[in-house]
Amino acid sequence: MRRNICFVLALILCLTGCAAPASALEQKYTKVYFDLFDSVVTIIGYASDENTFESVCEQARARLETLHMLFDKYNEYEGLNNLCTLNDQAGTAPVKVDKELYDIIAFAKRETPKLRGSVNIAMGGVLNIWHDYRETGTADPANAALPPIESLISASEHQDIDDVILSEADNTVYFRDPELQLDLGAVAKGYAAELVARELDASDMPSYILNAGGNIRIGKPPLDGRSSWSVGIQDPDALYGERNIDVICASEISVVTSGDYERYYTVDNVRYAHIISPDTLMPAVNNRSVTAVHKDSALCDLLSTALFVLTPDEGLEVLSHYPGAEAYWVTASGEILYTGGMSALLKSLGASDK
Ligand code: AMP
Ligand code: MG
Repeated sequence: MRRNICFVLALILCLTGCAAPASALEQKYTKVYFDLFDSVVTIIGYASDENTFESVCEQARARLETLHMLFDKYNEYEGLNNLCTLNDQAGTAPVKVDKELYDIIAFAKRETPKLRGSVNIAMGGVLNIWHDYRETGTADPANAALPPIESLISASEHQDIDDVILSEADNTVYFRDPELQLDLGAVAKGYAAELVARELDASDMPSYILNAGGNIRIGKPPLDGRSSWSVGIQDPDALYGERNIDVICASEISVVTSGDYERYYTVDNVRYAHIISPDTLMPAVNNRSVTAVHKDSALCDLLSTALFVLTPDEGLEVLSHYPGAEAYWVTASGEILYTGGMSALLKSLGASDK
């Protein structure tokens, strides 16, 4: 959490520092929430007055809170069938869920065949094991351990996405394999950010930057004379995200990074990241970080996780299915690679917010 807070504060400082004075009509405001999606959510926007800003933010916050509860894997809520309910009950009988939960599962399942086996929301069993070992190892570093490979293999026998049976007619979800568990961590924040961003686009504050725990979705350009917003790409080696390796200048787009510097733990001086390769059942090691850019934040979130697992060459093949998607890799050996479309957005290569 502390790492996330520092990252968000660094971003706020960067944006504040870069800004010229706003026009007389529109002022720049910032709001930070600490209790959504287990991370820090920041909204920066240009609004005609503080009341407008506050009321737009309150709507966004309420929507994010509802989505957080729906996509919550660990807690159930009175009167709500959420992800936790599904994992408890969908192996026994179909469970009816709200449209947003149905849609995110349908979206991730639909995209799976294009992702070269890199992301599988049905691998919740394996991810739960890693999660428990990571939590225990973080709380007690001296006794941090790796999960036994046998338990990972046996959990991996229950992760066939085709066993997730969706019925669009009545929004039900059923697990044909009763031991299957879903994990939406790879896409939940992006999916939620996209839904909220579409409401912000149609609100009285269409010029904004929404940062949901590092999952960034940007609205229209800032109203202070700059032509675009600036978003830093964090140096994977920088502590608390205080150093960028480059800056993306863009508007009306999403920027999402998956990195090995988030939610890792250490066993015998080796870091183990939170993104797990479905092939090896071990943390993915091809990249230090991958930043994806696309208009749609849900897709962007899915792609950043997928590209993090894959080699850059495999990632390029995945990107060929997604026109408008761009990527920036910091590979395991520290090499920096980016797609042609990404180069047009990078400050180091001449992109500007002027
Ligand atoms: P992100 O930070 O968006 O890259 O997503 C990472 C989260 O996605 C992890 O914390 C897990 O909850 C989940 N996850 C990790 N590896 C995978 C994978 N290969 N497929 C699906 N979900 C994953
Ligand atoms: Mg992701």
